[in-house]
Amino acid sequence: MTDDCLFCRIVAGEIPATVVHETDDTLAFRDIGPKAPVHVLVIPKAHHNDVAALAAADPALAGKVLAACGAVAGQEGLTGDGYRVIFNTGRFGGQEVFHVHGHVVGGRPLGPMLS
Ligand code: C5P
Repeated sequence: MTDDCLFCRIVAGEIPATVVHETDDTLAFRDIGPKAPVHVLVIPKAHHNDVAALAAADPALAGKVLAACGAVAGQEGLTGDGYRVIFNTGRFGGQEVFHVHGHVVGGRPLGPMLS
């Protein structure tokens, strides 16, 4: 738990979120500003700044986050038409919250990846 981290505070229940999936190590909740019909954020409960830091520090946990992304996609009905998992990383990557999170996005054609 990092006191000034928004997503750590969601894990701690101090900030509300619409949780759609949870394991011992991961939490998934709906993005408050959805960019598609389905837009869910998947995080490890433990604090790691970004996906590279997570993979370096705890590869097993990184795998659990990816598995949770897949589970969310399945339960949200995205596996037939496909979907996207995005880990924005760093300033140029558009990362605004520095607690690693995978965006699971789908429910419509998403178009070209880069903009
Ligand atoms: O990848 P990036 O750091 O830019 O994404 C942060 C995401 O967290 C945004 O899509 C934003 O809408 C979402 N968010 C949220 N709940 C909050 C604060 C931010 O879902 N309380």
